[in-house]
Amino acid sequence: MLTVNAVAATSATGPLVRTTVERRDLGPRDILIEIRYAGICHSDIHTVRGEWGDVAYPLTVGHEIVGLVAEVGPEVSRHAVGDRVGVGCMVNSCRECANCRAGQEQYCENGNTGTYGSIDRDGTVTQGGYSTHIVVDEDFVLRVPESIPYEAAAPLLCAGITTYSPLAHWKAGPGRKVAVVGLGGLGHLAVKIAVAMGAEVTVLSQTLGKKDDGLAFGAQSYHATGDTATFEALRNSFDLIVNTVSAPIDIAAYLRLLRLDGTLVSVGAPPEPLPVPVFALFGNRRSFAGSSIGGIAETQEMLDFCAERGIAPEVEVIGADEVDEAYERVLRSDVRYRFVIDIDTLR
Ligand code: NAP
Ligand code: ZN
Ligand code: ZN
Repeated sequence: MLTVNAVAATSATGPLVRTTVERRDLGPRDILIEIRYAGICHSDIHTVRGEWGDVAYPLTVGHEIVGLVAEVGPEVSRHAVGDRVGVGCMVNSCRECANCRAGQEQYCENGNTGTYGSIDRDGTVTQGGYSTHIVVDEDFVLRVPESIPYEAAAPLLCAGITTYSPLAHWKAGPGRKVAVVGLGGLGHLAVKIAVAMGAEVTVLSQTLGKKDDGLAFGAQSYHATGDTATFEALRNSFDLIVNTVSAPIDIAAYLRLLRLDGTLVSVGAPPEPLPVPVFALFGNRRSFAGSSIGGIAETQEMLDFCAERGIAPEVEVIGADEVDEAYERVLRSDVRYRFVIDIDTLR
């Protein structure tokens, strides 16, 4: 057992505290990763604040992890000591159900093992990436191309795959008009990835405050959702809308922006239900969908795609003692566009 430095939440309301967590001894197929950077996902905040359900405190969150392979078990073949690797939102799954066999481990019929807050195979609660080291089965460890700047690679492991997967599934590409709702961590990557896939991209943000950035990320147009005229001007416009907003939005208003056979896919995960009036679906035969992260093979495909296309998140690197302040800024939508913790500040 390895005891390593970490930052943990001890309640829904208190500040995060410095502590230690235990990492299991390496099994034959396990990898010990020395973590270098960990991204801050809004899901970390929903989780530690108890918005998604009960939490087994103390809990160390963080599921956007990059680091170096420090040690490998005797049967490990996919990664070697010194490799730059990443871990995203899951660290295991049953591997036997139809979805796992199809490479869709995120939809494991027996429930995948989340990187934090899940029951691990040894019965302990998994602890995430705001820590100096983690032990993960090699099948859930990704290869992170060296051409992606180190600190910027971390957010790809959740924000990157969560947006890449629905964009690929609903065929964002040439001739397709895609809107991205919310220009935060997920949203800004959705814009960059959809643009790289060849789609014509529109940003729908609360205000025009980030318009220059949105256009610099490659979006063709940018509209404020705080202005009701936006919803008239863009009626029946899009093939695909990716909603990345962490709070409830007026789903019917956004559905009306879809043209024939268009889909509104929600990756944003507010705790409250989102009412969907069916009459907004009838027009243009629209669909309302959800999507959860992506499979392991698809996550590798996304990392390689981002490396080839030179796509990297915009990050603000912070120290381990600045996470509470970063959470407050995320909650105020004051993030450009992902906070990443320099894990060296925890050593
Ligand atoms: P984030 O960085 O906070 O971005 C969310 C954006 O939503 C904000 O930047 C803001 O954009 C907009 N927004 C926030 N509050 C709003 C409100 N009240 N009304 C309208 N717009 C609002 O969060 P994130 O890390 O990208 O995560 C976004 C959501 O996706 C979270 O709910 C997270 O839990 C979820 N998530 C889901 C998955 C999945 O697998 N489905 C994976 C990761 C994350 P503007 O300032 O541009 O309006
Ligand atoms: Zn996440
Ligand atoms: Zn399974």
